[in-house]
Amino acid sequence: DKPLVEIKNIKKYFKVQDNVLKAVNNVNLTIQKGETVGLVGESGCGKSTVGKTIIRLLEPTAGEVLFEGKNINRYNSKELKEMRKDAQIIFQDPYASLNPRMKVEDIVGEPLDIHHLAKGKQRKERVKELLELVGLRPEHANRFPHEFSGGQRQRIGIARALALNPKFIVCDEPISALDVSIQAQIVNLLKSLQEKMDLTYLFIAHDLSMVKYISDRILVMYLGNMVELSDSVSLTEEPLHPYTQALLSAVPIPDPTTKRERIVLDGDVPSPISPPSGCVFRTRCKMAMDICGSQVPEWKEVKPNHFTACHLY
Ligand code: SF4
Ligand code: MG
Repeated sequence: DKPLVEIKNIKKYFKVQDNVLKAVNNVNLTIQKGETVGLVGESGCGKSTVGKTIIRLLEPTAGEVLFEGKNINRYNSKELKEMRKDAQIIFQDPYASLNPRMKVEDIVGEPLDIHHLAKGKQRKERVKELLELVGLRPEHANRFPHEFSGGQRQRIGIARALALNPKFIVCDEPISALDVSIQAQIVNLLKSLQEKMDLTYLFIAHDLSMVKYISDRILVMYLGNMVELSDSVSLTEEPLHPYTQALLSAVPIPDPTTKRERIVLDGDVPSPISPPSGCVFRTRCKMAMDICGSQVPEWKEVKPNHFTACHLY
């Protein structure tokens, strides 16, 4: 089947004074219809930049994004507006992303206004329907964001993203700001909406704990680079890259009889303005060898459909 989204050699560089910050360095990814791809890495690894580039909230420095086979980087503003009906985003911070002066009715109904899809009674009905879809009540329509809990606010953000019946949603750390007890509720909601509405997700997070439950495949990024990609079972059970292994060792194991050594990552992520030569992970890698400082590891398919970039393989 033709993929819904194809990201081809995306690079995103920012000028910072006289330097170039390589936020994203050559990312390639294909997302099939109905699939959830998790995108994981520490803050500053470029994952949000990838998410925003996919729906053209950011322009890539190089490379292109195809949505339903069409190059969206060539779209004019009218075509782009049309595409926005199909490709939406949910943000991390439900506090910051909802206008505090707008009633829920207008927050959720705004996309309908922008695209002239519903007015008056019809709009009211549609908003009610959307609120019920995300587990809120119709009377919530007349309230303001501050009257809701964090989890409820994220539900409002989700209702807004669903207003136009999209095909694809970039979930940009939708649970990172929420209490652990609420995180599972939101993940379950997103899962059930996916089935009901035939949605495809890119699910961005900084750790693997929830991502492995919602994702079919997972891409791990480090300092703007892809380090590992596979189906979520092999990635979490047989991680290849030392960075993925370290990320996983930080995830609590539900069964305490299984032993897993905690791998502590020393030091901070280096600045993307002056990334290490060779392998970008080498300054924090316990397995680093001589070759890691001089040669960039190639992206390789080490096992069927399980890819990584590391000189160990
Ligand atoms: Fe570690 Fe070398 Fe592999 Fe990089 S290439 S992750 S430094 S072993
Ligand atoms: Mg981010």
